[in-house]
Amino acid sequence: MSQASRTRPSGSSTALSEAYDTALLDLDGVVYAGGQAIAHAVDALRTARDGGMHLAYVTNNALRTPAAVAEHLTELGVPAEPADVITSAQAVARLVADQLPEGARVLVIGGEGLRVALRERGLVPVESADDDPAAVVQGYGGPDMAWGRFAEASYAINRGLPWFASNTDLTIPGARGIAPGNGAAVEVVRIATGAEPQVAGKPLPPMHRETVLRTGAERPLVVGDRLDTDIEGAFNGGVDSLLVLTGVTDAAQLVTAVPEHRPTYVDADLRGLLTGQPEVTRTGEAYACGGWTASVRGGELVLDGDGEALDGLRALCAAAWSHAGDGACALDAGKAVARLGL
Ligand SMILES: [Mg+2]
Repeated sequence: MSQASRTRPSGSSTALSEAYDTALLDLDGVVYAGGQAIAHAVDALRTARDGGMHLAYVTNNALRTPAAVAEHLTELGVPAEPADVITSAQAVARLVADQLPEGARVLVIGGEGLRVALRERGLVPVESADDDPAAVVQGYGGPDMAWGRFAEASYAINRGLPWFASNTDLTIPGARGIAPGNGAAVEVVRIATGAEPQVAGKPLPPMHRETVLRTGAERPLVVGDRLDTDIEGAFNGGVDSLLVLTGVTDAAQLVTAVPEHRPTYVDADLRGLLTGQPEVTRTGEAYACGGWTASVRGGELVLDGDGEALDGLRALCAAAWSHAGDGACALDAGKAVARLGL
């Protein structure tokens, strides 16, 4: 790693919606969960947009088209245009188009979002390994994806064709729980081929490049709920990030995060866009935020004081990240985090 590791969350004297021109928002666990809007998301996004912040939605899910995602967002009360939505299908289509001639045939294992994105790049989606494809592209195909599609991909890849994947998220959250995601489907094909796909989605550079090209953001802020996709993607792109705790990451995971998983800011939910962020101050080996002070004593993370739970979490992050330096924090964060009731 070339830059110094982040050792504490940053402060901001102005609202994040004013400090940054564009929010690059993850969807699942940030804006909605299981088809329902997350608490405070609709009002917070409306206020941020009315204040002049450009909102863009960045998803690793390649199944739905940007138009379908925008329609869903609009139904939830978050008005969006198709151009406001960037998907890993678009990112992988650009990656494929960079390497194949215009009009090349591509075997598609996935859904409509992937087919539309490939056609936009002048490529021709085909359905069979016998349709003379020049490459294989794999994206999430939804719960009804037939097993035979993985066989089709395997035949083509075993003939030596290059293989591309929209993303490798192993799981996908739904209304009834956790299901296998595109990363699990990629593993199925990998087992049958021994090959390695080129991957576009978060946290990899093709997705970040697609997002910057499509939004023209000058001071973007990545907003997400996952450390290993959203926050690591921001880290890889050299962009600031806000972690919200409405999705898959809990406070203990944040405290023990490795450097590339440490966000610039942390807040409970999207209302964090509308406020400044408190500073964490250091006195000796103790880190203070709001009414809380965190330190490492006798090999243990210790939290003293009281006040807003989020301030306590920010102080704990500073104590743990400083102590861990370039690695993951090996201290047990459970007891100190439990005091916050997050
Ligand atoms: Mg998410």
